[in-house]
Amino acid sequence: MKVLICTEPGKMEYDERPVPEPAAHEVLLKINTIGICGTDLHAYNGHQPFFTYPRILGHEISASVADANGHEQFVVGEAVTIMPYFYCGNCYSCRQFKTNCCSNLKVAGVHIDGGMQEFYCVPASSVFKDTGLPNERLATVEPFAIGEHALNQAGVFSGSRILILGAGPIGIGIALLALYRKAEVIIADPDAYRLTLCRNIKGLTIIDMQKENPKEKLMELTQGDGAAFVFEASGNIRAIESTSELIAHGGKIILVGLQKQAFSFNHPDFHKKEITLMSSRNAVPADFFNVVSYFREPNTSGFQYITHRIEFDKAASWFMDTNAEKNKIIKAIIRFDG
Ligand SMILES: [Zn+2]
Ligand SMILES: [Zn+2]
Repeated sequence: MKVLICTEPGKMEYDERPVPEPAAHEVLLKINTIGICGTDLHAYNGHQPFFTYPRILGHEISASVADANGHEQFVVGEAVTIMPYFYCGNCYSCRQFKTNCCSNLKVAGVHIDGGMQEFYCVPASSVFKDTGLPNERLATVEPFAIGEHALNQAGVFSGSRILILGAGPIGIGIALLALYRKAEVIIADPDAYRLTLCRNIKGLTIIDMQKENPKEKLMELTQGDGAAFVFEASGNIRAIESTSELIAHGGKIILVGLQKQAFSFNHPDFHKKEITLMSSRNAVPADFFNVVSYFREPNTSGFQYITHRIEFDKAASWFMDTNAEKNKIIKAIIRFDG
């Protein structure tokens, strides 16, 4: 089978390998479609902390079961997706069912090899079946589950006033899922292309950070209150540090984007507002189930989330093409069957 390997930052190479044999707790999947995540691009560019090479990237998977390996719940050929955060089941957080932040966590395509290969073995317990979702949609369940988890961590409900910093694939997922919960949603980003896409989302209020001062605009939109929830989905250090100015008194800041550096807040401000600061990492099975039911609702598939489709044979050159406008992407996917 053909595999695509990130051999070192800036270098992608194909290799031929035997189809892997599943261990007792695993099933063998045939990959149909895989999403390219910001994580994969950071890993390729050498910007991902704690990353080692060579590595097979990819964790946003749409696949079919190739060998159920004695796991009777699966039928060969059925369409599945996976929760790509392989947890130990024994550590403190696993014992609290917080498998998303397991202290021995192995994320597919990050700590261990991922799915940019024709066949891939995964723990049977990580596989979601019976979703009823089409092939490409299955590959987008994971990035939406990240947003669903953040909304659940924060406790966003109908009428909550939320601000999202960053209109990338995660920020847009949070926006769509929050609107589905009937929250009042504002999104801020400086990128004209991303904002053009956001203008197609009904009910979403936009702050164009090229043209508007985010704080002034937000205060105008909220009659001086600020947002009750600020989701930081850009990972930008200045955006992270600006959240304490944007949040309403008594509000919650949820850090979803990842940043390597330390950040700081003005403590008197932080105290005066009684801010809750939290982070949201990965997702738990319930978030995946919620996203599947969201996608199954009528009228939730209207937004063009997938903006780029790449054939597996051409994926290496796409990664290495410095002219590809990788910022003009919400979600790129790799297709294995053409
Ligand atoms: Zn991802
Ligand atoms: Zn664990």
